[in-house]
Formats: sequence, structure tokens, C-alpha cells
Amino acid sequence: MQTLADLRQRLLRLDGRGYKSYREIRGEYAADGFTLLIDHVQGDPFAEPSRLRAILPAESAGLPPWSIASTPRRMAAADFLNRALAEAFRATPTPRHGTGRSGELYVLRPGQEILSRTAMHVHPDASVEARFRAGLPARGRTIDGSAAADLLCNAIPAAIRASLRFAALDPDALRRHVETAEDAAALRDQLADHALVAFVADGAILPRRSGVDDRPLPHDRARPFTSPASLRVTLHRPNGGPITGMGIPAGVTLIVGGGYHGKSTLLRALERGVYDHIPGDGREFVVTIPQAVKVRAEDGRAVAGTDVSNFIAALPDGTDTRRFITRNASGSTSQAAAIVEALEVGARCLLLDEDTSATNLLIRDARMQALIEDRDEPITPLIDRIRTLARDHGVSTILVAGGSGDYFDVADTVIAMRAYEPADVTAQARAIAAAHPTARRTEGGSWRPPARRIPLPRSLDPGRGRRAVSIKVWSEDRALYGTEEVDLRAIDQIVEPAQVRAIAAALAWGRGRVLDGRADIARAIHAIMAAIDAHGLDIVQAEPTGDLASFRPFELAAFLNRIRGLETAPS
Ligand code: ADP
Ligand code: MG
Repeated sequence: MQTLADLRQRLLRLDGRGYKSYREIRGEYAADGFTLLIDHVQGDPFAEPSRLRAILPAESAGLPPWSIASTPRRMAAADFLNRALAEAFRATPTPRHGTGRSGELYVLRPGQEILSRTAMHVHPDASVEARFRAGLPARGRTIDGSAAADLLCNAIPAAIRASLRFAALDPDALRRHVETAEDAAALRDQLADHALVAFVADGAILPRRSGVDDRPLPHDRARPFTSPASLRVTLHRPNGGPITGMGIPAGVTLIVGGGYHGKSTLLRALERGVYDHIPGDGREFVVTIPQAVKVRAEDGRAVAGTDVSNFIAALPDGTDTRRFITRNASGSTSQAAAIVEALEVGARCLLLDEDTSATNLLIRDARMQALIEDRDEPITPLIDRIRTLARDHGVSTILVAGGSGDYFDVADTVIAMRAYEPADVTAQARAIAAAHPTARRTEGGSWRPPARRIPLPRSLDPGRGRRAVSIKVWSEDRALYGTEEVDLRAIDQIVEPAQVRAIAAALAWGRGRVLDGRADIARAIHAIMAAIDAHGLDIVQAEPTGDLASFRPFELAAFLNRIRGLETAPS
């Protein structure tokens, strides 16, 4: 194999040549303690930076046996190394004076969640593989050979050695990272045994710095979580030992309280509780069952044949709501569709916040029932479905509802937030419901299993122009899939753009394979997830990029359902 010294020679020889000649450096180079692979060379200085990998054999990475003892531990260790490399790149002085993206160094930058990402692999044999990008330096459109030699042969190797070798890392921090993730997963596993859908540890820090900064509010400004005594449970962590906190029982749970008292903050922590968090996040031991799905109103979205008839009966214009098709849903129909689409792929707990819900989907009170006759109101509000979902279909709901006491009648648990502190007010709420019975009538009749839909592959073409697969991701809220712009702002449980990239790639991969015009949405989504589980995320991409992060079936389905051109057939 060639060495880094050979690469340096070659780069110096290429100096001053046309940028395309950089292609000649593709290949593998032996470096001190690792192999550098140059997989793909950008076509010009302004293009997406070139794709590189570094592979450290086990002896060089030096990860201790405890850090790689299980698949989840290896995943958490990889997440830790990913962060270390991102930090090392950030601290690397690189020549930035060239043209375009000259000298840029880039690796996925993880947020507060511990995810599996293709940017870093800790393999079962304890070798480490990092995938990153570097902008090969140019002067105008010619190769800057000495800057390139500096970048590829000095700066990158130094960053790799400083971040991917155990000897250079803080061993206690790595241990905390791995053990925290393992403990959180263990807590999540215990929820079902205790008939809980969520757990919020005493001492957890739920509030964030701001709407755009997901780090915790500093400890001097945040009130740590304390469970009401009546809801306190003790769960077990394999590494951290017993831990107490608030258990939210399966069934219907209301979170009530005055405005600005911390209701939405609690719900947002529960939304994120489907993921593990890094030490210091504050929500490390806030866990929710993996099938918990946030659903919101999203007027203007398209709906492709979702059966919303349990919530919306025949519309005034005669539209069939068992196969509801629109390019412009209302607040209530969009949220009804979101609920049914979550159930379609196996949601076991719905999370709703009145702040982002359609009021008329949540409730119609007695006075409104008296004024508007049933036959003039197509909507069956959630209040009339929520109990059936819980009792007969095993689907719990956690609802932030500061505005409607009618929900006291259907709630199993009522939690009141007062100045960020939860109280169990279930008994009071029951007493109030008994003392002030509501005059409202239950509506809607019995729940019918929603009709299934088959997504048509012709409506899921990821191609654009001459490219068979064209995917562009701007943020966790917005992507381009083929020629379709996909709006993901209402999908609160997508936490990183890399998840969107992976979801889009998974859909493109699944089209024709499992999205074959015969499988319904549930079967197709679960087949894609099963393939990823068995073979890893790399299966959905043709080249080994480091740009993807793991995701859940619910967000995959949500993305599919947000493709405005989606067409479905009845199953
Ligand atoms: P609500 O939904 O009840 O109106 P929010 O959850 O939006 O209230 O919280 C209101 C504000 O209080 C937010 O700025 C939030 O960051 C802050 N906050 C929430 N919980 C805490 C806490 N435990 N400690 C300190 N501040 C908090
Ligand atoms: Mg709120």
C-alpha cells in the first residue's frame, strides 16, 4: 500500500495543475496508526467536499473491552468518537484562503441525542472507521498542492490521532457516555413491565436554552424535576443503580396547568424520550416507550387516501373520508390524518400539545353540541375516541390540555404543572367532574379499524433530471426528494438533518424493492426498518458516506406521508 509520504509527493507534483487532476489521488494510504481512504474527489472547488475515510485497526484505536462489549455499547462509543472528531476538526487550523470550499473539514455534528450514524463505526472487531469530508484546496481552478499536502498529510492525521485513539481520550467521559446510553435503554425496557408509557427521573433538567438551542438551561436557572409522591416509581439502571422518578401510566394522561408553567417543556422532553441523551443533557433518564409519536395540526398539508373516518365523517361536499385525499388539509383533518398515520405503523402512545393542535379536533363542548346539530358536524373530537383507543386498542395518550375540563371525564391520570413542579391532581379532577357533570354527549359511535393503503411506487420517484436518485436536505425541516419539496416542520421527533437524509435514502432504496405497489404502508415501512436492522444504515446508500443517522419507522412514514405527490391504492 502507498503511504502518506507518497500522497504528499503526489500532491506536490500536482500543484498548479487543473483541479480535475485531483482525481489521481483516489485510493488508500497507510498512515501512522490508520489507513486513509480517499473515496470520492470533488469535481471542482465549489462542489460538495471530497469524501474520505480513516480506518484504525483495533490495536491502534485501543478501545477497552468494556466499551465494545455489546452492540449498543459500540454504538454509544461511536457516537462519542464522532463528537471527539467533530471537536478535533473544529480545533484544527486549516488553510482557508483558497477558492470555494478549500480547506473545509467536515464530519457530522451530533446534537443532544445518541444515535447510530454512518460517520463513525466501531466494528465488532474493535476497529474504528470514520467518514468525513475535506475541501481539497485550490487557487482559482488549479490545485494548491502544498495546502493539500498540509491538510491531508498533517492536519487530518493529527486530528484523527487526537480524537479516535483511546489513549488520547478522557476514559471516564467515554465510560459515562456508554453507561448512560445503556442505562436509558434499560429504563425504557422496564416501562412495559410497570404498565408505564414514560418515566421522568427526579432531578432531570427539562427546559432548553432556547427554541433553537437544544442544550439544557443552565442549572442556576432551571428547576430540577421532582415527581409527585403518588406517581413516584423506582426503576433500575444496570450501571447507575436504582433511580426514582415520575411514572406516567398507560392510559389517558392529561397535563394541565396555567400558561407558562412548564407543560409544553415536559411534553417535549417526553417526545425526545424515545432517544438516548448524552451525559449532561438533563434528560438522560427521561424515557418514553419507543412507539410514542407526537401528532400536530398542520393545515395545508396533502393527504393521500388516509382513512380519517373515525374522526371526520362525510364532508359537506360529499368527500369520502375513508379514503381522504386533499392537497390542502384543514387543521382538524391534518391532525386526524397524523393520528391515523401514526397508528397505521404501530404507534402505542400519542403525544399532543394543545398549543399545536386543532381545537375542534380536541373538543366540542355541550353548548356547541346544542347549537350545531350532529348531522352538521363531521368531526368526532378526540375526547370521544381517546378512551376506546386506550382500553380497546392499547394506545395511550398524553395530552397537554390547559383549556378543557371536559377531558377530566376521560382521563386516567391528571398531572398539574405549577411553577414547573408536577402535582398529581387526578382525585381532585375526578371530584370536580362528579360535582360539575358535563352536559356534553359522547359522539361518534364505535371505532372502526382504519382502511389500509398501498403506496404507489410511481409517485415516489427520487429521480430528478438525469439523476436516478436526487436527494437534498437543507435542515431537519426541509428536504428535496426527487422533484418534491418535503415540509417536515410538523415532525417534531426528527432531531437531526442526517436523519432526514437517511429517511429519504431509505425511501429511494425501498421503492421497487418493498414499496412495490403490493405492500401496504405498514408492511413496506417495517420491511425497510428490518433491512436496516439486519444490514445497517449503509444498505440504503450506494457509496459509503458519513451523512446518515438512524431513525424510527414513524418518522419514515411521516416523511412518506408528506410527499405531496404521494398516491395510494386501497388495500
Ligand atoms: P406552558 O406550556 O405551560 O405554557 P412552557 O413549557 O412553554 O409552559 O414553559 C414556559 C417557560 O418556562 C419556557 O421558557 C421554559 O423554558 C421555562 N421552563 C419550563 N420548565 C422549566 C423549569 N423546570 N425550570 C426553569 N424554567 C422552565
Ligand atoms: Mg405550552
